[in-house]
Amino acid sequence: MDADVLIIGAGPAGSVAGRMLRRLGHKVVILESQRFPRFSIGESLLPQCMPFLEAADMLDAVGAENFQFKNGAAFSHAGKLTEFDFRQKFTPGWGTTFQVPRARFDQVLADSAEESGVCIHYQHNIVAADFGTPGQARLSGVDAEGASRDWTARLVLDASGFGRVLPRLLDLETPSSLPARQALFTHIEDRIGTPDYDRNKILIAIHPDRHEIWYWLIPFSNGRSSLGVVVPQGFLDGRDGTPLEILRGLALEEPRLAELLIHSRFDSPANTIGGYSANVSRLSGAGFALLGNAGEFLDPVFSSGVTIALKSAALAVPLADRQLRGQSVDWHTDYELALRKGIEVFRAYVEAWYDGRFQRVIFDQCRLDSVKAMVSSILAGYAWDETNPMTQRCGKRITAIAEICPPL
Ligand SMILES: Cc1cc2nc3c(=O)[nH]c(=O)nc-3n(C[C@H](O)[C@H](O)[C@H](O)COP(=O)(O)OP(=O)(O)OC[C@H]3O[C@@H](n4cnc5c(N)ncnc54)[C@H](O)[C@@H]3O)c2cc1C
Repeated sequence: MDADVLIIGAGPAGSVAGRMLRRLGHKVVILESQRFPRFSIGESLLPQCMPFLEAADMLDAVGAENFQFKNGAAFSHAGKLTEFDFRQKFTPGWGTTFQVPRARFDQVLADSAEESGVCIHYQHNIVAADFGTPGQARLSGVDAEGASRDWTARLVLDASGFGRVLPRLLDLETPSSLPARQALFTHIEDRIGTPDYDRNKILIAIHPDRHEIWYWLIPFSNGRSSLGVVVPQGFLDGRDGTPLEILRGLALEEPRLAELLIHSRFDSPANTIGGYSANVSRLSGAGFALLGNAGEFLDPVFSSGVTIALKSAALAVPLADRQLRGQSVDWHTDYELALRKGIEVFRAYVEAWYDGRFQRVIFDQCRLDSVKAMVSSILAGYAWDETNPMTQRCGKRITAIAEICPPL
């Protein structure tokens, strides 16, 4: 066999899982379709990522990069501004993290996996998979020169993100419970000089007239920022202008962004991605498990993507280790159900964000310290903390709190 474990994709889920498995003594090969560094969306990390990076012994490498420090989130709507400091959260543990250009962040994680002995083959696109032989998984890939090669291992972890390799090949894809939306985004030279602007926080701004349209402003440490807007699918159809002009025009409709971005240079083209919410019928099967976005992806609004990707790696690695050592493993209970517990919490908040309930809670009841600390935990990514009342029956709980809040 070529490896104990083959991992598809060298994004955060793949590199972290790879390094963790290697440190447990397993032979790991990662097959990555692109050449690094490469652009990726998903630049605002949550503090819940930090213990996973720590467990993979990657924190020093990340910390050495001078990434933008992050300690919270700010929300703005129609002239109102409210801030959450993640260090004042209900759940114990990390309250700070980073905002990262993903091209560099993913490169650092991949290099760190390689440094531990993981073998990464870049520009190797996986196109077929065969799990028909018990105890042996086979992947088929094509390299940059068009040459085909088969790979065998005892286990495959699919961390291919939006590539969704095994969900497509094994017909595991199911519709997301969330409606299709579209994001339009770019990087700008932000030149923000507004005195009350806090670069240590992501800014999430809500369109003044349409609460389901929202923006992100994610500052980096080099004077640049990631700026994006999320709109209902089809909302941009027929609009005049380049994607960058449309993005800039929409951003200037929001008063806080109009104030902050007055001197910004929109010097890079805008990109768009749509219909990104996705789900699968199951997260594991004989010889494989799906990590990160290759499994379920909800929505960008709470920056939960990399957190879920790293949580999936942290849950899958000990199970893979036990399986490789010949012990029996209940992937459904110990991986799928365990991972989905937190995903369901995020889902409840995403749904409540778009129907307006959670936005009302953020701008009203979060003035109460106790509520704010519990909500801060969710926003910091601690969705698996069952001691936080805001993770339990959260849909109903948000509704009950929202009912005593005034409309936005
Ligand atoms: C608009 C938007 C904004 C977002 N903002 C945030 C944010 O602020 N914070 C956050 O945490 N998350 C955010 N996300 C989510 C984030 O992008 C993902 O959740 C995260 O990148 C998932 O990591 P991953 O390791 O699962 O996959 P990825 O990072 O996507 O890595 C997958 C890797 O697999 C490789 N691959 C794909 N197909 C193949 C193949 N056939 N063969 C070999 N390799 C393959 C890819 O090249 C890629 O390198 C956002 C998402 C969207 C859509």
